[in-house]
Amino acid sequence: MPSGARRARARARLRAARSVRRGGGMIGLSGVRAGAQAVIAAIYPPHCVNCNAIVGHEGALCGPCWRDTPFITGLVCDLCGTPLPGEAPKGPVHCDDCLKIARPWTRGRAAMTYGGNGRRLVLGLKHGDRTDLARAAAGWMATAGAALLQDDPLIVPVPLHWRRLFQRRYNQSALLARALAARTGLACCPDLLQRRRFTGSQDGKGIEARFANLASAIRVAPGRAALSRCRVIVLVDDVMTSGATFAACAEACLAAGTAEVRVLALARVSKDG
Ligand SMILES: [Zn+2]
Ligand SMILES: [Zn+2]
Repeated sequence: MPSGARRARARARLRAARSVRRGGGMIGLSGVRAGAQAVIAAIYPPHCVNCNAIVGHEGALCGPCWRDTPFITGLVCDLCGTPLPGEAPKGPVHCDDCLKIARPWTRGRAAMTYGGNGRRLVLGLKHGDRTDLARAAAGWMATAGAALLQDDPLIVPVPLHWRRLFQRRYNQSALLARALAARTGLACCPDLLQRRRFTGSQDGKGIEARFANLASAIRVAPGRAALSRCRVIVLVDDVMTSGATFAACAEACLAAGTAEVRVLALARVSKDG
C-alpha cells in the first residue's frame, strides 16, 4: 500500500480511537480531542499529497508542489475551463475547440491543466491506488467550479464499464464526485449513468474517433430515470480531453429529461498544458 494511503488509514484509526466511550460518557471531550490531535500530529504529521514533505494540515500540497501544480486561474473558456490569455471580459468566452464542437452542456470548469504535477496527481488517483487524493482534489474542484455548483445541482460521476471497474477496483470519477458532494453538501448519485458497452481506451484516437467511440455508449440507469429529470446535473470526471465522454454523458442525461448539464473535471488537457 502506498505510504500516503497507509498514513491516511492510520490517522482514521486514531480518529476512531479517540471517540471511545468509558462508563457511558465521553471522557473529557474537548481536552481528549485536542490531546489526541496533538498525538496524531506528532506520530503521523500530515504530508504533502504530492511529495511527502510535512505540511500544516491533511490533504494539502507543500509550498513548492503548490507552486509547481498547474492550477487554472484567470480567464477560462466558460464551456470547458481551459485557460485563455487576456483579461476577463463582461460576458463568457469560449476556446477554439468549444467554438468548433457543439457542447451539449452549458458550462464547464477544471481545477488544473493535465501536465506536470497535474498529470502526476491524476495518474496517482487513477492507477496508483492513491484514493486518498480524492479529498484534496475535491477541494480544488469545489473552488474552480464554484459558479457551477449553484442551484442545488445533483453531482454525477462519469461511469466506468464494469469490466474496467473490475480491473481497477474503483471508479476514480465516483471517488471525486462523492468527495465533492461531501465537501459541498450537495446530493450525489454515483450510479445514475451506466456504460452500455465496453468502449476501450480513448488514448491514441483522434477527436472524431473519440466522439464516434462514445456515441450512445452511455445511458441513464433504468432505475435512476426519475432522479435525472428536470434538474441541474454537474458531471464529474478526472480528466477532460476532447470532451467526448462528457458529451455522451450529457446527451444521455438530456435524453432522460435533465434540465441542464454542467461539467467539472480535475484536470483539463490543454493545448498549452
Ligand atoms: Zn510537496
Ligand atoms: Zn472550451
